[in-house]
Amino acid sequence: QVRPEIERIAPYVPGESLEAFSQRTGIPIDRLIKLNSNENPYGPIPPVLAALGRYVSYNNYPDTDSTALRRALAEFTGLAERYIVLSHGSNELINLLWHVFLSVGDNIICCPPTFTLYTTVTTLCGAYVIEVPRTESYDLDVEAILSALTPETKLIVLCSPNNPTGNLVAQEDIRRLLETGRIVVVDEAYVEFSQQPRGVAHLVPEYPNLVVLRSFSKWAGLAGLRIGYGLFPEWIASYLRRAQCPFEVNVAGHIAAIETLAHLDCVWERVQLLIQERERLFQVLAAQPYLAPVPSQGNFIMARVCDEEITVEDIRASVESYGILLRYFQHPYLQNVLRVTVGLPEHTDLLARALAEVRPGRA
Ligand code: PMP
Repeated sequence: QVRPEIERIAPYVPGESLEAFSQRTGIPIDRLIKLNSNENPYGPIPPVLAALGRYVSYNNYPDTDSTALRRALAEFTGLAERYIVLSHGSNELINLLWHVFLSVGDNIICCPPTFTLYTTVTTLCGAYVIEVPRTESYDLDVEAILSALTPETKLIVLCSPNNPTGNLVAQEDIRRLLETGRIVVVDEAYVEFSQQPRGVAHLVPEYPNLVVLRSFSKWAGLAGLRIGYGLFPEWIASYLRRAQCPFEVNVAGHIAAIETLAHLDCVWERVQLLIQERERLFQVLAAQPYLAPVPSQGNFIMARVCDEEITVEDIRASVESYGILLRYFQHPYLQNVLRVTVGLPEHTDLLARALAEVRPGRA
């Protein structure tokens, strides 16, 4: 018999894979454009691919201490190695951190609409989510968070830039929440695309209760290799290392992350291209009379459907006929909303054509 909380889990549903989409629509994979999972269309930079090909010791386990990568990350983040914990994607750090802090009956505070994995893992721990919705402008409602705290609240979870709304959390809001003494988790999976690409990492040595989660999936184009890291106060980092399984980060992930950090100019150039393309994509979305896009600091843009005659399903029908995968939301916090990952310029062009053909009742 499984634990009762497992029965309550609503599994995290990722963006549809190319394989599944191709099977469902009959469109061959090589004609598809995947803009549904905030992946980086440029992929890893060439030195990463070259280093992966050169490496000959894939038969050996990785360095459990990840010495070389933590050293490179210390230089990149400006924080000493003792603050850094690596993982098999930042998803896995969420899983680990939650299990280290949440006992049955505890709770976390989450501010929807946001990344839903926080809720899935909370349920897995036998804990609960207290939802404190964002304001109309998708900012945090700090007063409401403060009054929602209970003695069992172990984590306050913030996503900055927030997936899917795209806005940053204000630093003064983070500081106010840190004053509560609860552990504040700031998920910065997309921060490199924002106006504050260094995020709030510099505050970690100042606060014993601030955690920052980062990923190589988005800015560095390494989503398939699964490599993430976090910046933690030393006491939390040491508990995480105790609880972590050995060899969590595979050798390919180590190599790719180290090479990425050794060629930052090349990576930032691509990030800049995506930021420029984001602004063009925003114009394309805003040009559709039925869409209201929200300005974004991530590598994606959320847009609300603002014409009562058109549904996300009508948009989906047109967009999918062009072989384009987007994310469509239809739940209480996000009614008739879509999210588009920033792709290559030609992806934006094709999307513009598909959006121009959207008609009511097409679905
Ligand atoms: N946090 C947020 C907000 C995300 O959107 C994602 C990926 N969708 C992740 C974390 C997980 O990233 P990773 O690939 O490093 O596990």
